[in-house]
Amino acid sequence: MKGYEGRTVLVFGLGRSGVAAARMLAEAGAHPVCADERRSGAVPGLPDGIEPRLGPFAADLLGGVDEVVVSPGVPGNHPLFAAARAAGAPVIGELELAFRFSEAPVIAVTGTNGKSTTVSMIGAILAEDGRRAIVAGNVGVPFSSVVRSIGPDGYFVIEVSSFQLETVDRFHPRSAGMLNMTPDHLDRYARLEDYYEAKERIIEPLGPGDVFFYNADDARCAALAGRTRAGAVPFSVSTPVPGGVFLEGRYLIRSMPGGTEEIFVDRRELAAVGLHNVENALAAVAALSGLGVRSHSCRRALEQFRGLPHRMERVAEIAGVTFYNDSKATNVEAAVRSIEGLEAPVVLIAGGRDKGGDFTKLLGISRIVRRIVTIGEAAGPIEEAVAGEIPCARAGSMCEAVREAAASAAPGWLVVLSPACASFDMFEDFEHRGREFRRCVEEEARR
Ligand code: ADP
Repeated sequence: MKGYEGRTVLVFGLGRSGVAAARMLAEAGAHPVCADERRSGAVPGLPDGIEPRLGPFAADLLGGVDEVVVSPGVPGNHPLFAAARAAGAPVIGELELAFRFSEAPVIAVTGTNGKSTTVSMIGAILAEDGRRAIVAGNVGVPFSSVVRSIGPDGYFVIEVSSFQLETVDRFHPRSAGMLNMTPDHLDRYARLEDYYEAKERIIEPLGPGDVFFYNADDARCAALAGRTRAGAVPFSVSTPVPGGVFLEGRYLIRSMPGGTEEIFVDRRELAAVGLHNVENALAAVAALSGLGVRSHSCRRALEQFRGLPHRMERVAEIAGVTFYNDSKATNVEAAVRSIEGLEAPVVLIAGGRDKGGDFTKLLGISRIVRRIVTIGEAAGPIEEAVAGEIPCARAGSMCEAVREAAASAAPGWLVVLSPACASFDMFEDFEHRGREFRRCVEEEARR
């Protein structure tokens, strides 16, 4: 993209997306200054000849800087923001930066839960329909690292978090969607409203030629539909929504231009389990409204889409007990949604770093959850919230939790790691937690 040659851009926060942004900037002829508050350690992947500047933030980092690209992990009250304002340097996020380099239309998905699954389903449907599409964003591959890979004839399908929406400016998706809005990240946002407002920024850039797809079963999402100028496409697992995509009986149905409706899949043929995945499948089809994607492409892609690792992933069966890894359920609603549709009794492994969630919501699944094995910092708060209703046992490590859960489950039951919390008290991230669960289950199988 023109406009970045010779510019000095501070990249603050050198996680995966920061490193990808620095590389893209260097390729575009800019001069990235790469900084991170970490005190030491290697930063692999930076452009040749660039040394990272490590250590606490100091305003002199902004000397000669034209623009700042900030990592989504940096909170909005960090002194960097005021210092950049004083220095006259705009602060944007990696999503905004990558968007400026993108030639292909963007399909963006946000919401509290289901984003990664939905973007992956959209990518699978587009591929099945013979189109070029790349899935990126929070889902693992930074947008910047792939933005030059496709031209105007393809699509970018981007998972967008509330943090990234705090730092957008010209970001303008052709199709954008809101899956649901439930409490999360109360460790970062002072008020729940602030979190919702950050998410709601997704509709700001949308105009009459764009699509806004939204969960009609979620009152907050539905209210947004009345505030956008884009063509609004509802999806629902509970009611037939005219002009939208919905579940009726066993069938997933979409409205077609001209007012007809067509079935694109039988719920029983979906490879991913749970009502929440039906919802994600409806959202994925709604996201593609107006693109002329064929019905059989939707069906074939969704029949083959088995779900992503760490999201209700079947790990093993030991002595008639099936073990599921749902490590990605990092808030209470996600855990409840994963479990509420299950038919067999469950021993739940939950806990980790508390993000301010309301654990009494676990009482809503007390019919299914026979016991909770608690781990990590939130063990005490979870036990208090369900006291007298669901028996609990506390474990000091993941393997101890798996052993305890296996010992209390009868044949035909399920053991589910669906932590309802962040992982950072005991693990590097949710993937590390899920891998550790798998290792412990394998150890259990050998006992
Ligand atoms: P995200 O990318 O938004 O974190 P994922 O697709 O990775 O979402 O799913 C994370 C977890 O959220 C899953 O393990 C499941 O527990 C829960 N989940 C998935 N889809 C939904 C949905 N549509 N509504 C509520 N919870 C969901």
